[in-house]
Amino acid sequence: ATSADSLVAFGQQHVTRGLGRLTEAVMAKGEGSYVTFEDGRRMLDFSCGIGVTNLGHCHPKVSKAAADQCVNIVHAQCSISFHGPYLRLIEKLLPIMPDPSLDSFFFWNSGSEAIEASLKMARQITGRQNIIAMQGGYHGRTFGAMAVTKSKTVYSEGFFPLMPGVFAIPFPYWHQLGLPINTSEEELVRFSLYQLDLVLKQQTAPRDTAAIIVEPVLGEGGYVPAPASFLKGLRTVCDKHGILLIVDEVQSGFGRTGKYFNVEYSSVRPDILIIAKGLANGFPLSGVVSRKELTDKLVPGSMGGTYAGNAVSCAAAVAVANAFREEKVLDNVSARSSELLTSLKSLHDDPEVGSMVVDIRGQGLMIAVEFASPLYSSTDPALVSSAPKSLASRVAKRCMEKGLLILTTSIYEVIRFIPPLNISQGDLQKGCQIFAESVKEVIR
Ligand code: PMP
Repeated sequence: ATSADSLVAFGQQHVTRGLGRLTEAVMAKGEGSYVTFEDGRRMLDFSCGIGVTNLGHCHPKVSKAAADQCVNIVHAQCSISFHGPYLRLIEKLLPIMPDPSLDSFFFWNSGSEAIEASLKMARQITGRQNIIAMQGGYHGRTFGAMAVTKSKTVYSEGFFPLMPGVFAIPFPYWHQLGLPINTSEEELVRFSLYQLDLVLKQQTAPRDTAAIIVEPVLGEGGYVPAPASFLKGLRTVCDKHGILLIVDEVQSGFGRTGKYFNVEYSSVRPDILIIAKGLANGFPLSGVVSRKELTDKLVPGSMGGTYAGNAVSCAAAVAVANAFREEKVLDNVSARSSELLTSLKSLHDDPEVGSMVVDIRGQGLMIAVEFASPLYSSTDPALVSSAPKSLASRVAKRCMEKGLLILTTSIYEVIRFIPPLNISQGDLQKGCQIFAESVKEVIR
């Protein structure tokens, strides 16, 4: 056996089975849009470690900022004192917040921890207990985050009872509502907001409801952008009843959908905004952003964590913010996004495989391709009966064999495109070509 094989065998023996894995291989190096494995395979990375390495792997300026910070101070604990990178990061983030009212910050390590903090904040600020979440939503794996996660049972299987006081309404996605694929956006929004109205009248009264939590683009639930009218509708209901709107931009934030934050498309103001992933391009860092007027109601010392807002991660995030501006990353997202959509649409028009591609959707470089599925009757019945099983995971597997790392998402047949935001035109085209070939080989 090669040394790569023995490393894999060692991992299989000693790494818990509780982690799922896409591939039995050992990642060795990341460089820009590519990763290499110990067995020598090199792959174009359209996963970005689940939407994290938005500026590519080991961006030189980000890695240098982190290395420089390691010489000054690594751990400056946030309940002991402020530290420089923490404050400099806030200075960088203030001008790019989707609403000027968002002026109060608190950093954590992971998305889940930030979600957890936002749920606690909503309870402490409003004095109310209940939370309304979205069917299809994903917010993380800790107990509070898991309770508001409604995308797959695997995240809660065997872990009940969850945090009580969570109610769910369907996200305006045709699958979630059991409606045909061609249902108009207007109708989807009307159905979802009607369910919200019912929940507030039948299950949790406004005076008991602390917050509504929503991803502006459903991530792990299928890469579905929320129509602007839906987010506006949630805002109106929140304003009417004094309910807080928690917007989870962990996956959709930091340029992923073509603007710094996805809520800029709808101009909807979050009361609490959750950020993570692309924020520090791979260093563990998340943030809870709100209004000082609200966070002044929190009890001092009721929030915190040993490693929260780590100095090295904050220094890396400052470098990310600088690189975004200097390297005009948002311009690249816009150019590559239209090329990606054009390439996927030509697959949709392909006489051989087009009928199996039922939907192409998304914004910026957060794009989904949904295939026909034999499992869900809300797709066109004619397609349902002829659709092969597990199309998305078979396509993803074929892509990997051909050198493209790409992920599926949701309980439906969905492939998600999350390439680096600074990917070159050539690499994007290369990935699109591998994808198209893989789809044809799997479907034929
Ligand atoms: N919210 C969203 C929208 C996410 O996509 C994720 C991670 N996929 C999380 C929260 C949880 O973040 P983490 O895995 O860092 O805890």
